[in-house]
Amino acid sequence: MELESILLPGVDAKRPLLIAGPCSAETEEQVMETARQLAARGVKIFRAGVWKPRTKPGGFEGNGVKALPWLKRVKEELGMYTAVEVATAAHVREALAYDVDILWVGARTSANPFAVQEVADALEGMDIPVLIKNPVNPDLDLWIGAIQRIYNAGIRRIGAIHRGFSSYDKKIYRNLPQWHIPMELKRQIPNLPIICDPSHIGGKRELISPLCQQAMDLNFDGLIVEAHCNPEKAWSDAAQQVTPEVLDFIMNTLVIRDTNQTTENLSALRSQIDELDNSLLELLARRMRVSREIGQYKKEHDMPILQTQRYDEIIHKRVEQAKQMGMDGEFMKTVLIAIHEESVRHQQEIMNL
Ligand code: PEP
Ligand code: MN
Repeated sequence: MELESILLPGVDAKRPLLIAGPCSAETEEQVMETARQLAARGVKIFRAGVWKPRTKPGGFEGNGVKALPWLKRVKEELGMYTAVEVATAAHVREALAYDVDILWVGARTSANPFAVQEVADALEGMDIPVLIKNPVNPDLDLWIGAIQRIYNAGIRRIGAIHRGFSSYDKKIYRNLPQWHIPMELKRQIPNLPIICDPSHIGGKRELISPLCQQAMDLNFDGLIVEAHCNPEKAWSDAAQQVTPEVLDFIMNTLVIRDTNQTTENLSALRSQIDELDNSLLELLARRMRVSREIGQYKKEHDMPILQTQRYDEIIHKRVEQAKQMGMDGEFMKTVLIAIHEESVRHQQEIMNL
């Protein structure tokens, strides 16, 4: 993709690019007060949700067009850039009518190609930065598809926002980070800026600081953080918003590591990793060959492929072993399940020969 590298003129190119503001534009006073406090701390880009996609009806669904003049005031009186979420062609037209500077496509919208296409069609011929959040489900192709639809509309200032992925059982995070997915996105589209949204990943304010640090360590280009002048009283996402003062503190404690220097010093260790990966691949290939032999035996003796007891035993034993070796049990389980799936695929091939 031929993307422009500067999303906005006048915003410092050094990491992290910071976008901050409330989940929702609630009242003119709340918008102005939050923006004033953020501007005073050097924040240049103000976010606020105007149309809020809510999981269930009855929640605060945003003020809609009524809130757009408030954002215009933020721009005119405080000199900040403004960013809003758009989900329909009408949203795009209305946001542009009020000179909004950045549009973003929300997670529920990017999961729906019809909706993304509608937004893309409304953007045809425009020159405005557009940020695309990952879809709620962990589907990298769907995310890339949304990015391509916006790109095909002629938009060249594009960024991605990683806001985590929905999961049924929520433990620590509101939305699981699954960092490998944005990492793979960066590998496939290297010149695409990626911004982390720690507020929606964490779902609680205590997690914002560690998530920001993690994003910086993984070389993300920017952060979009929900900040509110009175977070506890926020009309949406109250648990995950911080005051501009706390945000400033978090930003000041972030350690931004110098990427060039580490890359050089790491080369020896990296070649060790390459070698180890090679050995892992060879071992896996050997394991698959043995598994095919077992498949042959099962075929000759009319045995089913899946032997649940044996499978349980393997998972259980190896997970315990892994823990003793200092690895996470859940991690090992994921690896074993993946290996087992591939093994079954090989045996199925043998069975059907
Ligand atoms: C938001 O940014 O307030 C929002 C609704 O986020 P998401 O689309 O990531 O859920
Ligand atoms: Mn929110």
